[in-house]
Amino acid sequence: MINPADPRISAFAALCDEYGLHGLAFQHHEICARRAWLHLHRIDYAHLEERMAIGQISHTHSKARDRSVHGLIGLAPDRIDWSGHIVIEAKGKAGAVKAVSKQTVFYALMLMARTGHAWGAAIEIIEQKRRRLVDINEDVLLTMLIAAQDLSALIEGECPSGIDAPICRTCSYQYLCGRS
Ligand code: SF4
Repeated sequence: MINPADPRISAFAALCDEYGLHGLAFQHHEICARRAWLHLHRIDYAHLEERMAIGQISHTHSKARDRSVHGLIGLAPDRIDWSGHIVIEAKGKAGAVKAVSKQTVFYALMLMARTGHAWGAAIEIIEQKRRRLVDINEDVLLTMLIAAQDLSALIEGECPSGIDAPICRTCSYQYLCGRS
């Protein structure tokens, strides 16, 4: 676990605040810079894509986001264990673990910066009814700092090239991507 007083954590939070970066952007960034760019520029079609629509309904009906997160202006994790200092993100399936971990770590780092306490991160896999803890260590902090810098550059930059990977076949942005 990293020290919540580490000045790099407040630098991370300041960068995210300046550029309006949120947890989902970090998830997309882990998968593909082009996908992150589309997300950051609000180019999506969640309301038209069947798989995304089903995912949203499943998420809503799992009561994933509860009242424990009320009052967290600018942050939207699904759940918070206030006594255990753990921020929880709920996902339907166990896929894309690294990407979802980044989203959860984003919330934990922002809470560290806001509260000065150490925060843990966890992913709740709805389908399997289990919780997976995410280790927040030095490497993870460095990765998140680099991701925040990349994302802030994407906001002002041109749409980057896409990738050619199996995930493209199930990517929720595939119809908008026109990847090159
Ligand atoms: S389809 Fe592939 S290249 Fe296009 S946004 Fe998705 S992951 Fe990136």
